[in-house]
Amino acid sequence: MTQAVKGTRDLFGAELRWFQWIEAIAHQTMARHGYEEIRTPVLEEIEVFKRSVGESSDIINKEMYDFIDKGGRHVAMRPENTAGVVRAAIQNKFFETNDPKRLYYIGPMFRYERMQAGRYRQFWQIGAEIFGVAAPEADAENLVLLFDLLQGLGLTKLTLSINSVGTPECRPAFHKALRDFFDKSESKFCADCHRRIQENPLRVLDCKVPTCQAALEGHPLITDFLDEASVKHHARLKAILTALEIPFEDNPRLVRGLDYYTRTAFEVLSSDLGAQSALLGGGRYDGLVKQLGGPEVPGFGWAIGLDRLAILMQTIHNNAPDKKPILLIPVGESAAIRAMILAKEWRQAGVRVQLETRNAALKKALQTANRQGFQLAMILGDNEIEQGVITIKDLTQGTQETWNLDSVMYSIEKFEL
Ligand code: AMP
Repeated sequence: MTQAVKGTRDLFGAELRWFQWIEAIAHQTMARHGYEEIRTPVLEEIEVFKRSVGESSDIINKEMYDFIDKGGRHVAMRPENTAGVVRAAIQNKFFETNDPKRLYYIGPMFRYERMQAGRYRQFWQIGAEIFGVAAPEADAENLVLLFDLLQGLGLTKLTLSINSVGTPECRPAFHKALRDFFDKSESKFCADCHRRIQENPLRVLDCKVPTCQAALEGHPLITDFLDEASVKHHARLKAILTALEIPFEDNPRLVRGLDYYTRTAFEVLSSDLGAQSALLGGGRYDGLVKQLGGPEVPGFGWAIGLDRLAILMQTIHNNAPDKKPILLIPVGESAAIRAMILAKEWRQAGVRVQLETRNAALKKALQTANRQGFQLAMILGDNEIEQGVITIKDLTQGTQETWNLDSVMYSIEKFEL
């Protein structure tokens, strides 16, 4: 038997219903904040990621699903969507005016990751980006959108961890300080980190190997190398967040796994998640549009992992997000047709109803209904039709009532409410 490719999985049942529920809330929240959806291709030319995510990042070095297509193009399945959104915005001339642009996306991403709980090779992200505003007000507004979404999903145990990673101009001095630090302690770091120290010492800071994390104790901090404008930007953002009562922690050690961040970088952690505590991350990327061949347009955004969110939803909410439709069970031949007519009328009125079409014995039909988790069954037998009634069985309570067929629609509406 062939299996789904390692690290990928089929979505169905309760897990998919959580995905749909989260996505519906995301669409509503984005609309409330004036963000427009964009759908970009899964496949992009590899250059889109090399020039944005950064050649020295783990994503490019180890985790790309890339290949040469039949036309000889080097393409990759997107490991994240910001680069694709920027490519699309440039190509479709969104930046011809200086107007701000607010865009969001929901879709699958691909990374050839080592397998662990909650980490997949195909996973989903929801993300939101604001382009064209360099001021910290845009950072704050975009974070307000994020918190609106997270609160809409029922998440409360959240911590916003923020830092400023400065501008590319601050980096050389910081990199030098890091290299000096690593020169003294290089032997304590893993082989990957030795490569990182040569290519981009910043990457060592997000190495997940515990001995590397321990060896990083006392390392130089980017916050000691910031330019004045970055310091001011960060201070203003913190003042706005305080006024808006969005609780945050200043975390001078925070750097993100992607190269394109400038000034604000942040993560939101959730204590509901246990070991996998980072729920999402994002930040400002003022150089990215230019790096990808567009005009000088600042940007700010984040991406949240839908897979982990769905797990979290199952732990904080008791019920699955969706009720089963009513199951209508006809017993007997004339009842079968009458039931189809009733189902048609009810559906036209917006009632969700599924018909038992097997002509099965009532006992068997009810056994299936219970096994499949239906909450309400309606039974229509020839006897019932003669008497002008229908039997309603509450399968969760095990109770039963008889309703008048003429007024059944009114009663169903009550149940659906
Ligand atoms: P990143 O794009 O690395 O900043 O990741 C943003 C969010 O996407 C993370 O916080 C995760 O929730 C999610 N994520 C990243 N990689 C994976 C993966 N391999 N499997 C599941 N979720 C992921």
